[in-house]
Amino acid sequence: MDAEIIAIGSELLLGVTVDTNSAYLAGQLAAAGVNVYRKTVVGDNVERIATAVREALERSDLVICTGGLGPTLDDVTREAVASVFNRPLEFHQELLDQIAARFAAMNRPMSESNRRQAYVPAGARVIPNPRGTAPAFLIEDERGTVIVLPGVPGEMRYLFETVVIPYLREERGVTTVILVRTLHAVGLGESVIGERIADLMQQANPTVGISAKRARYELRIGARAESQAEAEAMIAQTEAIIRERLGPYLLGTEELPVVVARLLRERQLTLALYEGILQGPVLRALLAAPDIEQYLRGVEIHPLDRPADALAASDLAAAGAASVADRWQSHLGLGVQPASGHDEQGFTPVAFVLLAPGGERRLTRPFDLRSGDGREFIGTAALDLLRRYLAGESE
Ligand code: ATP
Ligand code: MG
Repeated sequence: MDAEIIAIGSELLLGVTVDTNSAYLAGQLAAAGVNVYRKTVVGDNVERIATAVREALERSDLVICTGGLGPTLDDVTREAVASVFNRPLEFHQELLDQIAARFAAMNRPMSESNRRQAYVPAGARVIPNPRGTAPAFLIEDERGTVIVLPGVPGEMRYLFETVVIPYLREERGVTTVILVRTLHAVGLGESVIGERIADLMQQANPTVGISAKRARYELRIGARAESQAEAEAMIAQTEAIIRERLGPYLLGTEELPVVVARLLRERQLTLALYEGILQGPVLRALLAAPDIEQYLRGVEIHPLDRPADALAASDLAAAGAASVADRWQSHLGLGVQPASGHDEQGFTPVAFVLLAPGGERRLTRPFDLRSGDGREFIGTAALDLLRRYLAGESE
């Protein structure tokens, strides 16, 4: 099946609005195995829209339009498509009732112009739009099928996913299934991860993409197949390869704070925190863990000491960890303490000490304490130290 996309709206031609709808539709259709041969952008003008649709139908079996379904007089997509199919616009009382109900639910008066949105070309299949007031529709004859979607991106996407994709599957024989799984990784640099999975990132199916946020990484595997089971098998196989390449740095489908909370629960351990940084980045990171109040017994934020070097910072972190674990009778004590000063790049050594029943773990690394971003890295490093201990992994 060959398809074309027509984006409708004068604001798109003026460069006021970027036509993201076409890009979304093109990506979705390509992924579903539908060839997209042309994209057109046209202003809010009945004649020009009608010409664009007519020409597209000469070339392609399926035309997807987006935009120009609003209530105002400059929204003329309905009229234009009706004229291409030589059909009158027909009033649908049930559509007006739905539009009225939507306004009532929003506690806003419906204007007379909204009546326009209850008109659809005769013989068209109405696609109700629970996300907005403009109903969409599908109309076809021997030349092909035209599907008209609203311009508001959220409404357009919703209707594409819930109506157009099932239509393509069930009525047009498009059998492709697309599955995406997101995995989380932590503790390695983005370039290192990129190198280890470079070959996977170049393959066309399944695709593997990576995005980074302050030392936490999201790896997305996307598989395209003829059945759900086949797509799942492809994802599982790629996940296994990634797991082998990244080892303990790969968390799985859970995010770091979720993993830490789960491990604390499974191992029935409690924690107390001593943090030598006023903004409390480690406490902040811990607070993102679900039900953390059940495991975190106490916190002391004590930003006054600035030991001269990394070694002294580490000793102070250990003393702090021991003191809070003792005071709140927790199984684990975590101490975090920066040294004083910073290097030319603005980095200060920060010491982490985890006191645990099986011994202690220490880590010292430089961070930029002055920025919120830099401090977020500290939170990630502390949670990861905790995670690795709880998971029984080596340091
Ligand atoms: P509604 O009746 O729900 O407003 P509509 O079909 O009338 O839907 P438009 O009036 O054309 O939609 O556009 C509504 C909003 O959607 C506008 O704010 C516009 O910026 C945005 N929009 C329209 N078309 C596109 C597009 N192709 N890409 C991105 N945004 C778009
Ligand atoms: Mg418009």
